[in-house]
Formats: sequence, structure tokens, C-alpha cells
Amino acid sequence: MAPDNITIMEGLLSHANESGVIEYKGINPGKTIAFIACIHGNEIAWIHVVEWLRTMFTDAPPLSGTVRCIIANHEAFFHGQRYRATDLNRIWNQEYPKNPPIPHEFEVRERIRPWLEDVDVCIDIHSTTLPSASMVIPASSSTGNRHLCEALSCEYVVHNIVNYLQGSPIIAYHANLPGERISITIEGWQHSEQACIERSLYNARVILERFGYIKGSPMVTKADTIQHIDVLDAYYAQYQGERLEWIYSKNPKWFDVIPKGTIFAKNATVAFESLQDSVLLFPQKEALHSWKEMFFLGSAQGLGRLEGDMRGFRSFSLS
Ligand SMILES: [Zn+2]
Repeated sequence: MAPDNITIMEGLLSHANESGVIEYKGINPGKTIAFIACIHGNEIAWIHVVEWLRTMFTDAPPLSGTVRCIIANHEAFFHGQRYRATDLNRIWNQEYPKNPPIPHEFEVRERIRPWLEDVDVCIDIHSTTLPSASMVIPASSSTGNRHLCEALSCEYVVHNIVNYLQGSPIIAYHANLPGERISITIEGWQHSEQACIERSLYNARVILERFGYIKGSPMVTKADTIQHIDVLDAYYAQYQGERLEWIYSKNPKWFDVIPKGTIFAKNATVAFESLQDSVLLFPQKEALHSWKEMFFLGSAQGLGRLEGDMRGFRSFSLS
């Protein structure tokens, strides 16, 4: 029988230091890459990547540089939770609390923060609870980030989302460290789907080849066409104190295009209308983390933007 995720996690932690870090030094000097695992304790696609790295680099070290796996919130993992007290991927711009009780995720943040300082390439691995699209989210649209995104297997590259989150994610923190950094988040798809696991492994392999940690293989080919999307705005469970209703995607495996003129969200007093053909991102009926972002409105690159209003929607009062 295949070992379950808890057994794999216990095995991985037995190889990690007290910060949850497993490190493989290359034969030659070179860049440091970090795979960030378990930022969200309930998302387990990363476990296959880190276990694959362990198997591979236990037999033979990387060709150059340093490959680092940072297993972040293993306490949340063992509780089967996204987080214990607060979202670890939204607190990177917040001050460490002055008084106890210190929320668990702040302690995790301080535990792993020193391991990011020398990292040239930061790959943050996520997966989703509900069916979703596979996507890559760069911390910025820098040339380095963009080129890496385009080399990967995914359906969407989602730009600018970092600017619309309530709080700061780990890739934003890493991207803002001095020097040139590459920082991306990979959303593989639904946690335990074989396609998600295979895609996550494929992307890890492409990244390792690209930066010279392992030898390239002619077997690796890429079949996807990637759609680039610019996020225009984010919406939350409530708007001006009242619950917001929005149109849900009929196609959870990809993002619906909503035609120009569609009222895509409203409550008793306000409505939002798209001023151009737009894209709804993460339009999930079920509120997974209802006090954070619920969905985003985006513009598919190539669909064009409305002149004079870069936000692409207007809101109007219903009362
Ligand atoms: Zn996540």
C-alpha cells in the first residue's frame, strides 16, 4: 500500500532541521532555489514534489547551487487545517504582535523567514480544495518571472493579483528583498487529483532543469496554451457592510468570460457592471475563507482594455 500523506510528512520532517528546512547542496556553486511547501496546511500537492526531490537528491546531489525545501506550517497540516490562527500567506507585511498570545502563523513566519534571504528563485506551491483552473501567479511581471511562467504547464498566468490581496503573501515578501529575485506561486489544481500531482511534478522538473540543478531531458515537452490575465479588482463577502452576491462560474475548471454589460455582483444598494469582456477568477459558490477575497475580476490579455477606464467595470447605486 502506498504510504499516506501523514507518513510521508513525518518522513520528510525527520530529514528537516528545526526550521522545517531540507537542503541539498550542489556539486558546483550556483543559485539558491527554494520550494515553499505547506504555506496552507490543507493543500497537499507539494508533498509529492518535496518527496520527489528527496528521493532524487538523496541518490545524487544537484549539479549546482542549493535546492532548499521549506516545509512551513506543518502544525496546520497535522490538524488538517489551512491555518491555525491566521492565514500565513497574508501576514508578510504585518508587524510581529507586541503582546501575547502570538498567533501561530507569526511564529511560523519568523521560523522560515531567515531561509528566504539568500534565495534567488522562490517557488511557492499550492493546490485548491474545489475544482479550479491551474495557474501560475508571479509576484510581479518582471522579465525573469514572466519567462519562467511561460515555461511552465498551466492554463493561466494571473498578473497583478498580489496588489489586490488583503495582506501580503510570501512571494511579495521575497520579491521585495534586495537584488534580482524570481518569485512565483503555482496553483496546481485540486489537491489530490492525479492531474494536479503530475502537473506539480512536471513544473518542478522544468524549473530544476531551467536553472541547471538537473540535466535537461528531451522528454519534457509542453502542450498547454497559456492565457495571461490582468486582475482588475477583488471582491469580498461584504461590500459596505452588506453581503455581496455575485454570479458563479458554471465551469469551475476554468474561468468564465463575462460579456461586456453583465452585472456580475450586487447587494441591496450597489451593483457592478463589466465595461468590457472580462474574466471571473475563483468564482466559487462556497465561501472557503469568507473574510478574505471571494473572487476577482480580470481582463484577458488580448481581449483589450476599455479606453479611459483601466479598471474595466463601473459600480452604480440601486437605491
Ligand atoms: Zn494555498
